[in-house]
Amino acid sequence: MHCPFCKAHETKVIDSRLVAEGEQVRRRRECLACNERYTTYEVAELLMPRLVKQDGSRQPFDEEKLRAGILRSLEKRPVGIDQIEACINQIKHSLRATGEREVPSMVVGEAVMAALRELDQVAYVRFASVYRSFQDISEFQAEIDKLASNGEGPDSNNHSETES
Ligand SMILES: [Zn+2]
Repeated sequence: MHCPFCKAHETKVIDSRLVAEGEQVRRRRECLACNERYTTYEVAELLMPRLVKQDGSRQPFDEEKLRAGILRSLEKRPVGIDQIEACINQIKHSLRATGEREVPSMVVGEAVMAALRELDQVAYVRFASVYRSFQDISEFQAEIDKLASNGEGPDSNNHSETES
């Protein structure tokens, strides 16, 4: 950025540190033309919302945990890593797109289920069976039946949130 004092283009960073619990970078800069010093703060424009669990406790969004859950569901399934990463990005995008600072943790589970449903139906049923911890086999069967009767593919009019 230009020097705010003399508008010179050449400035150098003389110190850089994380502040605000690592969510900001504070930089001390020095103008090479007039030698004035000033400070800039860099902040991510979009923060992931924190997750509120059913017992009311809060926890930060954990991308590795999300990835592990998805990979477990997709074990030995014909789905490439690029598709998996795209799926994770889509889930993160939908969380940020809520614009909320906190969301119920079930929102993440539902987002994973929606994404897996498009990606691989076996993985979807695997994930859903763990996530929803089906009470009995008839409930599990009902979910499979729903899939079977909904076989017109990803173009079917679902009411998932719109992407920009
Ligand atoms: Zn200057």
